[in-house]
Amino acid sequence: MLDLDTPLGKVVGTRTAKAMAEELELHTVRDLVRHYPSRYARRGEMTRFTDLEVGDRVTVLGQVRKVDTRPMRNRRGSLTEVTVGDGDGSMRLVFFNHRHARLEVGAWGLFAGTVGSWHGQLQFSHPDCQVLDEATDAEEWATAMLPIYPASKSVSSWVVQKSLKLVLGDPAAAEQLLAADPVPAQVRARHGLMSLARAIWLKHHPETPDDVEQADHRLKWDEALVLQVTLAARRRAAALEPGIARPRRTGGLADAVDAALPFELTAGQREVGEALAAEIGREQPMHRLLQGEVGSGKTVVALRAMAQVVDAGGQAALLAPTEVLAAQHARGIGALLGPLGRAGEIDGDPAGTRVTLLTGSLRAAARRAALAEVADGRAGIVVGTHALLSEGVDFADLGLVVVDEQHRFGVEQRDRLRAKGTRPPHVLVMTATPIPRTVAMTVYGDLETLTLRQLPAGRGGVSSSVVPVAEKPAWLDRAWARVREEVAAGRQAYVVCPRIGDDEGKGATEGPDGPDPGDGAPPETAQTSDRRPPLAVLDVAEALASGPLAGLRVEVLHGRLTPEEKDARMRAFATREVDVLVATTVIEVGVDVPNATVMVVMDADRFGVSQLHQLRGRVARGKHPGLCLLVSELSTSSSTGTRLAQVASTTDGFELARLDLETRREGDVLGAAQSGRRSGVKLLSLLHDEELIAAARTEAAALLETDLGLAAHPELAAAVASLNAGDRADWLERA
Ligand code: ADP
Ligand code: MG
Repeated sequence: MLDLDTPLGKVVGTRTAKAMAEELELHTVRDLVRHYPSRYARRGEMTRFTDLEVGDRVTVLGQVRKVDTRPMRNRRGSLTEVTVGDGDGSMRLVFFNHRHARLEVGAWGLFAGTVGSWHGQLQFSHPDCQVLDEATDAEEWATAMLPIYPASKSVSSWVVQKSLKLVLGDPAAAEQLLAADPVPAQVRARHGLMSLARAIWLKHHPETPDDVEQADHRLKWDEALVLQVTLAARRRAAALEPGIARPRRTGGLADAVDAALPFELTAGQREVGEALAAEIGREQPMHRLLQGEVGSGKTVVALRAMAQVVDAGGQAALLAPTEVLAAQHARGIGALLGPLGRAGEIDGDPAGTRVTLLTGSLRAAARRAALAEVADGRAGIVVGTHALLSEGVDFADLGLVVVDEQHRFGVEQRDRLRAKGTRPPHVLVMTATPIPRTVAMTVYGDLETLTLRQLPAGRGGVSSSVVPVAEKPAWLDRAWARVREEVAAGRQAYVVCPRIGDDEGKGATEGPDGPDPGDGAPPETAQTSDRRPPLAVLDVAEALASGPLAGLRVEVLHGRLTPEEKDARMRAFATREVDVLVATTVIEVGVDVPNATVMVVMDADRFGVSQLHQLRGRVARGKHPGLCLLVSELSTSSSTGTRLAQVASTTDGFELARLDLETRREGDVLGAAQSGRRSGVKLLSLLHDEELIAAARTEAAALLETDLGLAAHPELAAAVASLNAGDRADWLERA
C-alpha cells in the first residue's frame, strides 16, 4: 500500500527514482506530491517566448510551424531545424543527425532544454520533446491548464507528470493518500480552507486559475502554520527555562559607563535601556531583537546592558560578524571604560573588569591568555567573532549574549552561544537592517522586537545620488572632485568595489575564522554574462591614486589581508592617516569613523538593497552631512537602475526593507536550500502573505496555549517534527 513515506523507487523505475533523488531531491511520495508545477501552460495563451532568456532551463509548449532537414556544410551528417511557436513568438530547435519522428508541422508539443541563441533568435539544441497526442488527449489538454514542473537534465516535466499519475490517479486516491491533514479542522473551518488532499489534487490538476489560487492559499497555510508552531514552541520552551536575574546595581560599572559617555543619550536609547535593564533584572531569560537604523547608537545601549550584568557578577559576550568589527568594538569599549576596563593591569581600576577580544586569528599564547580570562571570569566583557562559538571557549558565568548585526547570525549560532551559560543567559540581538513585519514574524519569530527610531541629534544625514556613467560620464569626474573637496575640508572618503581583484574567482577569507561573510560575497543581483567583470579594489585604488585622486593618501582594505593588516589599516583610517579607503564590503557593517563623509560605491547595481543601505550608513556618523554616490553603468531606465534610484531617494529603512524583499527570493530570506525543501516553504511569500502569516501566528499561539505537546493534533505535530528533524533550526540561518 502506498503512503507518503513510500520511497519513489517503489513507484517509478529505479533509474528514474535515482535521477529524481539526485537531481530534484525527490525521495518519497511525499516529496513528489509536494513538487508543485512552476507554472501552467494553456493553449492559446502559451509560453511567452519573448520572456525567455539565454541560459534558462525551461519547458515550453508550442506548435511546430516548419521542419527543414538538410546536409551540413562542413561536416558529414544532417541538420534538422524545427521552428515552433505560439501566438507571439517562435523558437528554433536544432537536431544533428536526428529527426524526431512525430515532429510534423501542426503538431503540438512540449520542448525542454537550455535556452541558447543563434543569430539573435532563441534556440534549443537537442531539446527533449514530448509531442502531444491530439487524437487521444486533444479534448483534455486543449482546454486544461497543463502543469509544467521544475525539471532537470534527465527528469523532464512530463516524466514528473506521469509519475504523479501513479500516486494521484484520481481525487479519491488523493483523499486516501493525504487523509492526514496538518491543519486542524477548526482552523480550516475558521479560515475557509479546503482539505489538504483537495488542495494537492487541484494544484496538480487545475481547471481554472482560480483553482490554483485556492489551492495555493490552502497550501501556504500549511507552510505558515508549521513554521509558526515551531517558532511559538521555541518561545515557550525558552520562557520556561529559568535563567539568572541580573538586576541593576548603583555605584558600579554601569554608572561609570554612563558618567564616561561623551554625549547625552537620546530619549530612545534611554527608553530601550530601561526596558532591557528591567528584563535582565528578571529570572526569565530575555530574548530581544533591537532594531535600529544605522547610526542610531545601538552599541552604547548594548554596553550599558553588559555593564549591568558585570555589576551583577556575570559576564557578557558581544558577538560581531567580522574581525574588523569585533576589533573596533573591543577598542571602542576599552577606550570608553578606560582604567575600568583594565582591572588587573598596573594602571587598571580594581573595581572594574576586563574587556577581552577573542577572535580566530589570535596567536596561540594570546588565545590561551584570553581563554583563561574568559574561563575564570576576569573578563567581564568578551568581544569576539564566530570564534566565541567554538569548543573550548568556556565562560565562568555567562549572563548576557549580545549579537551585533544580526543578519549574519542564525538561530543555530545563537543557540550555541546560549548553551555556554550554566543557565540560559539573556539574549540581545541587534540589527540595523530594518525588518519587515513578516520577516520579524518568521525568521526572527522567537524574538520580541524593540525599536530605536531616533538618530542622535546633530546628525547631518546622508544624501544619495545615482551616477549613471553611461549616460552622464562627466558626473563621475564630478564625484572624484567632491571627494577631493571633502578631503580638503578635513574629511575622509570610502570607495567601495564589488571585488578584490588580482586573483580572480577566489573568495576572500579572513584568517582561521573562515570566510568573512562581509567580503567577496556574491552580489545579490543577477549578472548577465555579456557585462564586463565587476570593478576591483586593487585596480580602482591604483587608477585613483595615479589619476583623479593623485596626491591623496589612498589605502585599500579587503578580506584577503591578514587580520593584523586589516586592523592596522582600519586604525590608520580612524586616526586620519589615510584620506580615502578603497574597500570591499568588509566595511559594510558597523564600521564607525565619524569623520568619513563621502562614499562612492562603484558598480552599485551589483549590490543588494540592504547592502547599499548598510554601506551608506558608514558615512555621516558625525556632525557633518554625508554623501553617498551610487555609480552604475546600467541605464537609469533598466529595472536595476530604477531600483538604485529608489535606494537613493529614501532612507526610510522600512521602505528599503520592502524593496529588498522584492528583489530577493523567499528562499534566500529564509536561508533555505534553493529548492525550499528544508524550510518547507515553497509557496509562502514573505512579501505578499503578511495577513496569512499573521493569522497563522495567532492560530499557532492558540493551539499551543492549551496543548503544548500538540497531543490533540498529531498530524500537525508530525509536520513540525519532520521540519525540525536533521539540521534542526538550521533553516532559519542567515537572513
Ligand atoms: P549603530 O546603531 O549603527 O551600531 P553606533 O552604536 O555605532 O550605531 O553609533 C554610531 C555613532 O554614534 C557612534 O560614533 C556613537 O559613539 C555615536 N553615538 C551613539 N549614541 C549617541 C548619542 N546619544 N549622541 C551622540 N552620538 C552618539
Ligand atoms: Mg553597530
